[in-house]
Amino acid sequence: MAQQLLGGPVAEAIYGELSERVEALRKQKVHPRLAIIRVGDDPANAAYERTVLKRAETVGIAVDVHELPADVNRLALYADIEGINVDARIHGCLMFRPLPSSLDELTACNMISPHKDVDGVGATSLAGVFMGLPEGFAPCTAEGCLKMLDFHGIEVRGKHVVVVGRSLVVGKPASMLLLARDATVTLCHSSTADLEAIMRAADIVVCATGNARAFGASCFSAGQVVLDVGTNTDADGVFCGDVDFVAVEPIVEGITPVPGGLGAVTTAVLLQHVVQAAEARER
Ligand code: NDP
Repeated sequence: MAQQLLGGPVAEAIYGELSERVEALRKQKVHPRLAIIRVGDDPANAAYERTVLKRAETVGIAVDVHELPADVNRLALYADIEGINVDARIHGCLMFRPLPSSLDELTACNMISPHKDVDGVGATSLAGVFMGLPEGFAPCTAEGCLKMLDFHGIEVRGKHVVVVGRSLVVGKPASMLLLARDATVTLCHSSTADLEAIMRAADIVVCATGNARAFGASCFSAGQVVLDVGTNTDADGVFCGDVDFVAVEPIVEGITPVPGGLGAVTTAVLLQHVVQAAEARER
C-alpha cells in the first residue's frame, strides 16, 4: 500500500512559518494584502476565493475582492489592474482565469506588475521560471509540486520525472522547476506516443491533464511517486483527480489523493507569495 502524500500537513507547515513572518511585518507597520480580481460568477472561482479568504484570515493577510461583471469591458478591467499596481497597500494580485472570451487574457495577465504577480501569470514571472531568475513568482501549483516532494522527503535530483500536461499553469513551469532541481524531465501531452510506457518508466509522475481518472494501473509501476494535480468532476459529479486512485494506490510507493493533495498546498504557496512580496517591498 502506498504512502498517501497529504497536502494538509505541507500547507500547515507553510502557514505556521507565514504567521511568524506576518507578525514580523506587522512590527514594521506592514500589513500584507492580496487583491483578487474575479470577473463573473463562476462557482469554482467563488469556491477557491472562499478558501483563500479563510486561510488568509488565519495567517493575518488582508484580502480585497474586486468583483467585476462578466460583461465588463477590457478598459475597465485594465483600469482595475492598474489601480492595484499603483496601490501601495496591496502586495499581491490574483486574477481568476479563464477570463470571458470578450477580454484579452494575455494582455491582462501581462499588465499585472511582476512585483505583485503572486499567481505567476505574467511573461516576466514565467521568464523567471524558465531562465532561473528571481523575477516575479512561479505559478503556485507548479511550485506546490516541489513543496509536496520536499516536505515528504522525496529526492528529485537525478530522478526521471514524467510530467503529463504542458500548460503554462502547471505542466511547463513544473517541468522547469524540476529541471532546475536536477531532475531529468520528460514533458508529455495529448500527442505523446506510447504515453503509458513513458509513464511506467518514471521515478516520479506528475499528472496535470484535467481528465477524470484517466490514468489507471497500466500507466504506473512499483516504487513510483505520483503527484495528481487534476481537479475534475466525474460523470456522477464526484470530485476526483486525473489518476484512478483506487487502482493505482496499491501499485506505487507514494501518491497524492484528490481531494486532500495538492489543492491545499497551492493556496498556501499563493499566500506565501503575498508575504514574500510584502517583505521584498520593505527591503
Ligand atoms: P489545460 O487544459 O490547460 O492543459 C491540459 C494539458 O494536458 C494539455 O497540455 C494537454 O495536452 C494535456 N492532456 C490532456 N489530455 C491528455 C491525455 N489524455 N494524455 C496526455 N496529455 C493530455 O489544464 P491545466 O494545466 O490548467 O490543468 C490541468 C488539471 O490540473 C485540471 O484538472 C485542473 O483543474 C488542475 N489544476 C489544479 C490545480 C490545483 O490547485 N490543484 C491548479 C491548476 C490546475 P495538449 O497540450 O496536447 O492539448
